[in-house]
Parts: sequence; C-alpha cells; structure tokens
Amino acid sequence: MDLINNSAPTLAVVVPCYNEEEVLCETSKRLSTILLSLINDKLIDSNSKIYFVDDGSRDNTWKLIEKESQNSSIRGIKLSRNHGHQKALLAGLMTVTEDIIISIDADLQDDTNAIREMIIKYQEGCEVVYGVRDKRETDTAFKKLTAQGYYKLLEKMGVDLIYNHADYRLLSRKALDTLKEFNEINVFLRGIVPLIGYQSGIVHYERKERFAGESKYPLKKMLAFAAEGITSFSNVPLRIITIFGLCVSVVSFFMIFWVFAVRVFTEEAVPGWASTMIPMFFLSGVQLLSLGIVGEYISKIYMETKRRPKYIIEKII
Ligand code: UDP
Ligand code: MG
Repeated sequence: MDLINNSAPTLAVVVPCYNEEEVLCETSKRLSTILLSLINDKLIDSNSKIYFVDDGSRDNTWKLIEKESQNSSIRGIKLSRNHGHQKALLAGLMTVTEDIIISIDADLQDDTNAIREMIIKYQEGCEVVYGVRDKRETDTAFKKLTAQGYYKLLEKMGVDLIYNHADYRLLSRKALDTLKEFNEINVFLRGIVPLIGYQSGIVHYERKERFAGESKYPLKKMLAFAAEGITSFSNVPLRIITIFGLCVSVVSFFMIFWVFAVRVFTEEAVPGWASTMIPMFFLSGVQLLSLGIVGEYISKIYMETKRRPKYIIEKII
C-alpha cells in the first residue's frame, strides 16, 4: 500500500472526563505509553499531546489533570460546568491544533491499541478512521438490544451512521476543519462526521469493561442523547405524523358517512359506547404524542436561534 500521508504528523488525543478520578491516572499512563511507542516508531511527531477535557467534574478529576499536566505532553481543558459528553468532546476538538486528532473515552473501554492501526489507516490516505466495536460482550443485553434497534431506526429514517461506532475515531486536520463548518448547537457527532465525506476507514476492536467507576450515561441521559440523534438528523417523525393524521381523517370521514347511512336508511340507531370512547381516547393520545414530537422540533429551532456558545472553557493548562 502506498503511503499518502507519509511524514510523521503531530497527534492530539482528546479525552472527555466527567467524574473520572478512579480511572484518570491509569488512562493517562496507558495513553502516554502508546504515544511514546508511536513516537519511537516515527509514526507520529514527538510534539504529540494528550488533552483531558474536564467536563465540570465534581470529584478530584481536575486536580488529577493538573498533576498529570506536569508531564509536558499532557494538557488540561477545564469547562466551566458540566456540558455533556458531546460538547466536552467538541470543546477539545476545537481547541487542539495538531495534525491528527483521536477522540477516546476516559474509561479505557475502547482498546487503546487501535490507535496505532488508526494512524496507519491515516497514512494510507484516510481522513476519518472509525473505531468499530466488534463484540459487545461486556455490554448488558438491554444495552445491546436497544443500541441495535436504535441504529436500525436511524437507518430507516435516512441517517447515515456507522454501526457499532461511538466516538472513538481519528480525524485528520482537513476533516476537523470541515467539521467546524457545521454550526449547529445541538451536536451529535456520530451523525455529523459521516456527512463530511472524504475517504474513511474502519478499525475493529473489542470493547472492554469499564476500567473503574460507573457509567456516566444513565438511562435518562441515554434517552436524551437518542432523541437528539433523531431530531437533529431526520424529519421522518414529522412526516409519519402527517401521514397518520391523513389516514385517521380518511377513516373518520367514512365513519361519519356510515353513521348517517345507518340513521337515514335503517331503523337502528348506531349502538355502542365503546366504539365512541375508544377512538376518543386513542386519538387524544395520538394527538398529544404528535404535538410532543412537533414540540421537540420547535424547541430545537428555538435553541438553535439563540446561537448560544456551545461550551464555555474556564481554563487551559
Ligand atoms: N462524559 C463527559 N460528560 C458527561 C458524561 C460523560 O465528559 O456528562 C465522558 C465520560 O467521562 C467518558 C465518556 O464521556 O469519558 C463516556 O462516558 P461513559 O463511559 O460513562 O459512557 P458509557 O460508556 O457507559 O456509555
Ligand atoms: Mg464507557
């Protein structure tokens, strides 16, 4: 294979951290080791760095980052409060100046050995390299099932997603500069990155158990994130409402016709309390749900029109 991006680039590893005091030192150690071996093999420049983004942690995470940053290859970015994983990651991406950027979670679930393969793919000409989890044996059956269902749902809605890829990826400077042109405030990087195009590659890895600590993505945050993915990238839900509304209207038109016909042409009155009440409840439910979905989109427009800053950096060390 011809190497296209041949010279040793500077690498920035961006690590969003929220209450990660239990894993931070180990993550720092492992990433530093990898960086060193890549530098020794002349795959990356010796000025490469690790950026820990503290997403408003309430524990000792920032203190530990400050300590780690005594090492010249480690930097810390402190956000003013908790902004959420995507925005913390974005803050890191927008701050770094290196030639290639790899984003990885702090909990060591993503295999750090894949970094080397990602860089090789970059040298072969890929501007984006996606880390894809091969097996998800460490995930609960619930997580696996909901994740698969969600990928399928988004695909059906016309969203271009890489299956089993989270936010473990390499971006070239060119790809990152293109990403910066996407100005939306509600960021769902998994959906945006495939939109930038360019040559991309995939690196497979095995997803491990969290090294220590608990998931910072409880069900509530996960659901909000899932809704974000849909409303940011697809208007299919709105269309479904329209089509459903149309069908119900047509049916009700025929019902009216039928009720009249029975009344005028037969001796019977239309019987049935159930047949009145059930559609009433059902339709009220559908209407409220539909209103809710429309509301979700409107709230999105509302937030976007404010053009508020996506994240606030307190300091960089
Ligand atoms: N994270 C963050 N801000 C948050 C929640 C999470 O920066 O509000 C970081 C967290 O420290 C970790 C990454 O995002 O590095 C992924 O979180 P986690 O591993 O808890 O999610 P899971 O793997 O359980 O989906
Ligand atoms: Mg994790």
